Amino acid sequence: MNSVTNQAPSYIRDLVPYEPGKPIDDVAREWGLDPKSIIKLASNENPLGPSPKAKAAMQQAIEKAELYPDGGGFHLRTAIAEKFSLEIGNVILGNGSNEILEFLGKAFLRPGDDIIAARHAFAVYPIIAQMSGANTIEVPDPEFRHDLKAMVAAITPKTKIFFITTPNNPTGAVCSEQEIFDCVAAIPPHIVVVIDEAYYEFLDQPPRTVDLIRKYPNVILMRTFSKIQGLAALRIGYGLGPKELVEVLQKTRQPFNANAIAQAGALAGLGDEEHQRKTKEITDSGRKFLEGEFAQMKLEYVPSGGNFIMVKVGGCGAGKKVFLELQKSGVIVRDLTSYQLPEYIRVTVGTPEQNARFIDELKKVIV
Ligand code: PMP
Repeated sequence: MNSVTNQAPSYIRDLVPYEPGKPIDDVAREWGLDPKSIIKLASNENPLGPSPKAKAAMQQAIEKAELYPDGGGFHLRTAIAEKFSLEIGNVILGNGSNEILEFLGKAFLRPGDDIIAARHAFAVYPIIAQMSGANTIEVPDPEFRHDLKAMVAAITPKTKIFFITTPNNPTGAVCSEQEIFDCVAAIPPHIVVVIDEAYYEFLDQPPRTVDLIRKYPNVILMRTFSKIQGLAALRIGYGLGPKELVEVLQKTRQPFNANAIAQAGALAGLGDEEHQRKTKEITDSGRKFLEGEFAQMKLEYVPSGGNFIMVKVGGCGAGKKVFLELQKSGVIVRDLTSYQLPEYIRVTVGTPEQNARFIDELKKVIV
């Protein structure tokens, strides 16, 4: 058949898009609820919002909204480079760190190539692979931990990208520094190693992964302003890598991919260490509270290094049921059916009030 849609390759036509956390307004419309009464603990956002300094900088940047942004992101990239004792050429900005994944797909993946990821790793990797006609080799992750040795053993002659996600979303599982270093040393240098560290700043003992990009030409780290910085709406993230690798990725991006308001907010947020400290503090205590409540309710959960917890709420299908029941009561969590985890939900650590409300509603659902 010669229909226009058939001109797109089958791997595009067959794509199942990423299913994000449900927006508050959608839930309000669907269940006839007042949006103000709804809490969203579905997308690992920052319950404190952005830093006040970031807000002020963004308001100021709006005044110049008629001008295109600095496509080279000079000020923000310089500040990020300084923070990690790197150079500007080691930093690339993305429209969210998701866009860095797109750059990687465009630069390195062709039909028939392979990527390697853990079975329950972030769902965007297989989507990016499929967009280029590449395959995802999903390596089993016993007890939800990356089995990095098995992942290395799964490398094929067609493998182009190897993903390590720590802390991993949706499981929260963390790889130790030693595990990461040993793994990277074992990966052939023609394969790009992506260490996705969207939740890096929530770790008590963050691995010194920046050292890896000084040592290996094939390693790139992904970080984001969406989580600890509370700027998810702005869509701004970054990659840190060896200059030559970053240069290749730069060729694949739109000239103005990171907008000016996001750049201004991110720059001011980066300097507000107090806000980051407060966010980590409220996350640590909220996570502890939730873990304690789950233990009392005899619900199994996966120890998490991120600002979220994956918890088993029953047998097969229980996840969706609990997700829907909670939604009816105005609490949005994440159903993990699309991750082939139908017994689980994932909940973001919120404010103490939000955490308490979630637990109250959960107790009503799980009797
Ligand atoms: N990586 C992981 C592991 C994530 O959980 C997320 C967000 N859910 C991202 C990358 C992308 O985040 P963003 O595009 O907002 O930077």
